[in-house]
Amino acid sequence: SESLTVGELAKKIYREPSEIIKKLFLLGVMATINQVLDKDAIELIAGEYGVEVEEEIKVDTTDLEVYFTEDAAESQVERPSVVTIMGHVDHGKTTLLDSIRNTKVTEGEAGGITQHIGAYQVVENGKKITFLDTPGHAAFTTMRARGAKITDITILVVAADDGVMPQTVEAINHAKAAEVPIIVAVNKMDKEAANADRVMQELTEHGLVAEAWGGETIFVPLSAKTGEGIDNLLEMILLVGEVEEYKANPNRKAVGTVIEAQLDKGRGSVATLLVQNGTLKIGDPIVVGNTFGRVRAMVNDKGRRVKEAGPSTPVEITGLSDVPQAGDRFVVFEDEKTARHVGEARAQTALVAQRGEKSIVSLETLFDQL
Ligand code: GDP
Ligand code: MG
Repeated sequence: SESLTVGELAKKIYREPSEIIKKLFLLGVMATINQVLDKDAIELIAGEYGVEVEEEIKVDTTDLEVYFTEDAAESQVERPSVVTIMGHVDHGKTTLLDSIRNTKVTEGEAGGITQHIGAYQVVENGKKITFLDTPGHAAFTTMRARGAKITDITILVVAADDGVMPQTVEAINHAKAAEVPIIVAVNKMDKEAANADRVMQELTEHGLVAEAWGGETIFVPLSAKTGEGIDNLLEMILLVGEVEEYKANPNRKAVGTVIEAQLDKGRGSVATLLVQNGTLKIGDPIVVGNTFGRVRAMVNDKGRRVKEAGPSTPVEITGLSDVPQAGDRFVVFEDEKTARHVGEARAQTALVAQRGEKSIVSLETLFDQL
């Protein structure tokens, strides 16, 4: 979009921001240095100084999505798959997540106390897999609302003694809309009434045809309770990862998404971030949603302090000036000044939007005030 803040415009036309703020005041607008001006407002003010505004497509540097660019193929390397678990209530999503975490995390790291930070990583055959702990539906709803893609693969849990239920169908629709590959976990196979064939049959009606039946969908019978079949599921996740070739560039400034965030009495704003590209480091100047700061401390899913976090790694950070929201994007900047500028501009825009006012000073608002 073609917009500038008062500060940016001042710089461009070699004036003091205070002068522009005064000019806007005389036009009836109370503005700050971070106030965003649209093209017409820029032209009007620039015109007052005899400056003609050239047509230029300017990147809106306060839109965090513009930093989610893809890197050159040669700079990209393999990264862990990011997995979400979905399915009908009581079909075993939580049990499966806990079971994977308990068997795999403690197995790999003796003495490691698992932290509940909203996501965790396990190692299977020497390769990492990232699981999002957030309810699949919530993750997908947030993703859809914000257009942010965070999940690579979804595990559809269907209880073998219950079959396809309304939320099973809902989950399939979410995954299809987001174009995320589905692996079906046919759960509760330890139960007397378990019937995997029935689940396969019912899912055929929703376009998920098992490989055994000539389709392309991977079905894994398992028991989240006994742990039977979980290794198989993890291997299938690795297989899909190999086919899809999920990649990222660890040698750039980090960008990603907030998994969860809250205010902690002792530590202040605490946010779990999923690094999606680049490497996040201690001390990085960062904008997270409408807040900003410097990464003060980082803790991984095993409760250990870390100095950096690469692609697909969930990490809990402190050092933000405010609490962001789940689903918010984050971007690391070159220097603190830029992070502060972008963060404050975003906070300002959000505040104005929240008040139900126009976030941008347009010609109409200028004249409305006269
Ligand atoms: P969610 O609502 O999908 O998160 O389901 P939960 O994980 O809370 O599981 C619902 C119930 O099913 C709980 O009582 C679990 O103990 C039980 N359950 C989950 N997985 C299995 C399984 O593989 N076998 C058996 N027998 N029970 C299971
Ligand atoms: Mg649950």
